[in-house]
Amino acid sequence: MKVTDYFNSAQGRTLLSFEVLPPLKGGSIDTLFQQLDPLMEFKPPFIDVTYHREEFVYKEHPSGHFEKIAIRKRPGTVGICAAIMNRYKVEAVPHLICGGFSREETENALIDLHFLQINNVLALRGDARKFDEKFIAEKDGHEHAVDLVKQIAALKKGIYLDKDIESGTHMDFCIGIAGYPEKHFEAASLKSDLKYTRKKIEAGADYIVTQMFFDNKKFFDYVALCREEGIEVPIVPGIKPITRKYQLNAIPRNFFVDMPDELVRMIQKAKTDEAVVEAGIEWCIYQSVELKKAGVPCIHYYTMSDSAVVRRVAEKVV
Ligand code: FAD
Repeated sequence: MKVTDYFNSAQGRTLLSFEVLPPLKGGSIDTLFQQLDPLMEFKPPFIDVTYHREEFVYKEHPSGHFEKIAIRKRPGTVGICAAIMNRYKVEAVPHLICGGFSREETENALIDLHFLQINNVLALRGDARKFDEKFIAEKDGHEHAVDLVKQIAALKKGIYLDKDIESGTHMDFCIGIAGYPEKHFEAASLKSDLKYTRKKIEAGADYIVTQMFFDNKKFFDYVALCREEGIEVPIVPGIKPITRKYQLNAIPRNFFVDMPDELVRMIQKAKTDEAVVEAGIEWCIYQSVELKKAGVPCIHYYTMSDSAVVRRVAEKVV
């Protein structure tokens, strides 16, 4: 079933969904199942699985020389999606990015998804690689997520890159995209960011999942602005509980979002690691309850391999 079908059939009920990361290379899928098993009682209609492209690392040789090599630290997104669907009988949503993919490779990846009956996908650009100053598309790859959405939309109509394929199978994907209540860090303004978000919807995207935020007002204002701009699709808030003090600085640095003063005060006041976790959970429950009251279609939790705390939040929200 498509993600948006779940929203439509929920009859105003707020659903809960989760995002997980593939295990580090060398890790076992059992560790992922151990993360997910305790979350299944909340009946998530779908689970997102992130995609991690190759990164450059420097390996030192005995001679003292360093070699720059590209490795993928967290491979396996598509395999994990298939395993999740098989084990839990829920939809899995693979994240598909532009970075590292030519159009041909993207098409082949989508064919794999279609054959595996994975009919939902979150279409993203991806970030610049470490050591690259800005995002660089592959030769014959996509520069922006909108181009990826267009390619998926074409395949939905049976249009393949090879124009000789005449009555090609129509792939029936439901397409999610990213949205940024506090604007994408490269965008000149929230308005200009929204202009491009609207282009992704016009190209065929069906719903938006937001970047994490800690101030619900930012989300409510964002939804209002989207509606003013004519963006009518469901907008799913993505949130996560703070679990460590250093995240007060690391999250704004990595995700370009602000922390509300009250949350900062609560976390700074906490005297022990356990007290920080409790404060983070309390804030996330408060956010979730307010979002649910506002009638959001779904609350999407970024588990970041820490499902035990997300579980503590979810059990107060269902
Ligand atoms: P785009 O929509 O391409 O936008 C990128 C920037 O370009 C924005 O500033 C936008 O305003 C601008 N822009 C857009 N279109 C155009 C255009 N046509 N012309 C000029 N400017 C334009 N990254 C991963 O690597 N793997 C993941 O699994 C992953 N999951 C994510 C999940 C969510 C819910 C979110 C919010 C982000 C995720 N990301 C992931 C991070 C994401 O890849 C980065 O934020 C990336 O920098 C932007 O991706 P995008 O799809 O929003 O890009």
